[in-house]
Amino acid sequence: MSHLFALPAPSSLPIAGRSARFPVHRIYCIGRNYVDHAREMGMAVNRAQPVFFLKPADAVVTDGADVPYPPATTDLHHEVEMVVALAKGGRDIAVEHALGHVFGYGVGLDLTRRDLQAAAKQAGMPWDSAKAFDHSAPVSTLHPVTAIGHPAHIELSLEVNGVLRQRTDIDAMVFSVAETIHELSRLWTLAPGDLIFTGTPAGVAALQPGDHFRATLGAIALLEGSMI
Ligand code: MN
Repeated sequence: MSHLFALPAPSSLPIAGRSARFPVHRIYCIGRNYVDHAREMGMAVNRAQPVFFLKPADAVVTDGADVPYPPATTDLHHEVEMVVALAKGGRDIAVEHALGHVFGYGVGLDLTRRDLQAAAKQAGMPWDSAKAFDHSAPVSTLHPVTAIGHPAHIELSLEVNGVLRQRTDIDAMVFSVAETIHELSRLWTLAPGDLIFTGTPAGVAALQPGDHFRATLGAIALLEGSMI
């Protein structure tokens, strides 16, 4: 079968210690997964109802690359998040089997046009233009479970221009990684190549052109880049 034209190659991420890259299928995100961030946004956490949204796979920006300041906003926010990469997919994945689907972990920024999100919330409209824009998903090199296991008590942090903006222990997540995979798989068929942004702690704030960001997941993963 021939196609009318060729699509761009899929987005991909480097893998520590391997020459092969991780092809990105979908990017799922969970909102309000740290109580302190939900509180700073004036929202309550609902244990019965996780908040999910998606970004397009080609929103990925790799470590070290510049991030262009997006159009149509004057309030671009950083949200530092642990990123989970799936090696196996499926539907209705049980919590106790969920971690067996994980390929590895990294750290990323869920970049958000906060002004558009506030307007969308106010109007009861979807979040896509606030969350799913071009270059909205910088992600570090991925670190395979075979090398690092499953991080449990580990610090997630973000510095901008050398100043600490966000810091938490990932054990403060409302929905654990296993619970998040379980909940997502009730709503979508998960697949190898899927990434999951696992939510951000308090301290979200604005980025400006010229800012340098440095996000870390303990000693495991590092993401650096500049806003241009
Ligand atoms: Mn987020």
